[in-house]
Amino acid sequence: MIPTATGLAFFLRKQVRKNLALLAGYCTFLALMVLGYAHLFQFLMWHLERRTYSLIAGIYWTITVMTTLGFGDITFRTDAGFVFATVVTISGVVFLLMFLPFVLVSLFVAPWIEQSIRYRPNRELPAGTRGHVLVFGPDVVTRAFMRKMEGRQVPFVVVAPDKEEAFRLELEGMRVLCGTPTDGVFLENARAGAARGIVTNLNDPETVNLCLTARKLGDAPIAVIADESAHADLLRAAGATHVIPLPQILGRHLATRATTFGAAAHVLDAFGNLLIAEMPVYGTPFVGQTLGKIPLGGRTGLSAIGLLERGAFSSPGPDSPLSVHTIVLLAGTREGMSSLEALLRLEAGEDRVIILGHGRIGCAAATVLGKMNVPFTLIDRMENPHCSAHESIRGDATHLDLLRKSGIDAARGLIITTNDDNANIFLALASRRANPHVRMVARANREENVDELYAAGADFVVSSSSVGANILANVLEKKDTILLTEGVNVFRRPLPPRFSGWTLAESGVDAMSGCAVVAILREDNPEPVVGPSRETVLDTRMDLVLIGSPEQEKRFGEVFA
Ligand code: ADP
Ligand code: ZN
Repeated sequence: MIPTATGLAFFLRKQVRKNLALLAGYCTFLALMVLGYAHLFQFLMWHLERRTYSLIAGIYWTITVMTTLGFGDITFRTDAGFVFATVVTISGVVFLLMFLPFVLVSLFVAPWIEQSIRYRPNRELPAGTRGHVLVFGPDVVTRAFMRKMEGRQVPFVVVAPDKEEAFRLELEGMRVLCGTPTDGVFLENARAGAARGIVTNLNDPETVNLCLTARKLGDAPIAVIADESAHADLLRAAGATHVIPLPQILGRHLATRATTFGAAAHVLDAFGNLLIAEMPVYGTPFVGQTLGKIPLGGRTGLSAIGLLERGAFSSPGPDSPLSVHTIVLLAGTREGMSSLEALLRLEAGEDRVIILGHGRIGCAAATVLGKMNVPFTLIDRMENPHCSAHESIRGDATHLDLLRKSGIDAARGLIITTNDDNANIFLALASRRANPHVRMVARANREENVDELYAAGADFVVSSSSVGANILANVLEKKDTILLTEGVNVFRRPLPPRFSGWTLAESGVDAMSGCAVVAILREDNPEPVVGPSRETVLDTRMDLVLIGSPEQEKRFGEVFA
């Protein structure tokens, strides 16, 4: 049997427990031997030389002799005594100095080395395997994707480039294949031709090679997280079916949440003509009012489908207060978004956004703001070698002097997007102190830091791994789901046929799943019905657009499947 990493870890844990017992036994044996010699020492000293020593002195003497330290402060003076001391020295050399290290090495070090040499990662899937998903480039995004897909019936196989990585991934509980992603023979052995999908987050040149090689074997869809949107054409030409320029997508997410200007620019995604958007309230005349008082629905036809405050989602009601930290989630048409923009009559030039970090994501955010004519200031420790379009202030943003000099106290918006989550949390806290009202959007490189960023003062946190995982899941499951923020999804589903002829209120779709129906789309009418009345009569040509948590979305699937 080929040992797997998890099997190996299990074996080692069992083996180590057994070996600890053996070691304890050996130590007891040594202790008894020392005690026995100490008694014998007392006996011989009295009978041979008429000298008395305590048991403690006996133990002390035995240990100094057995370890060959032999201080010489207590010594025998008779031949019989010398013979006894020699026997004790020799047993010390044998049992303490030779055997003990040997026991330690053979019980603990050797099994580990032996087993890691014996570990052979899988390099091949059984012939005839089909319908699996191959994941290349195990990193935070692909890991979050696999966690998201946990519990679904799709078998995932992660490809690790080397044995050490394979071992680590197997310990995490994943099914692993070890091999070179661009090697044709390996891809054949990974049954890439019969896969349900291929997902990759390797670098773009490697991905091009992988796509070309995989295309020779079959036409499984290939979803690619691309480093650069400029590479999209090349990746498609090589055979990628879905190219996801994640840094550009994240940059857009950050930029549109950091400025109030351009309601149309806050559109996150769309289901046909139905747009889903977010609008920060800070900087608009709506601050301090309630949702029922602002002229939203009447003037623009938009519907508020949710409210976000520091990452916490709440359902909207006429009495919901709008503060500087509120973000309103909106559903409606493009015309509606334009009317909102006209209604707010904001001047782009009045906004000012500071961007901390000019990597790919920071650069993409700056590009989006530039297109909206929103002035911005970039700060980075280093020059971005791939960007000639933007000037940045050079320096470490965690130096508070630099942050102050960049004008943080007067800025309207702030984007925190370094690749270091600790720096991002630190910067969120420092900036919130310097400017209590600034619209602060931060990027979390790892999902587990989202809460800390909110706690530090961010108004909105974009988790790069969740966004990436969500897009990959949509592509693979051919599902229509928009991730608004951690824990809130907007999704489109066909009307469960049994409700045809019922009114929305009678169907109880919302009560049974916990989701709210935010719009209805019809096959025969491109115009969406936004915020449908409870009396709307349903028919089978309708699709429902709902908002809810991922659990509620799942419940909807289970109840109405
Ligand atoms: P991505 O491309 O995903 O945005 P990068 O690693 O390319 O990530 O970019 C992160 C940027 O953040 C880098 O340009 C880096 O110099 C910058 N950065 C990291 N820490 C700090 C800091 N303390 N102050 C200023 N810039 C920083
Ligand atoms: Zn740039």
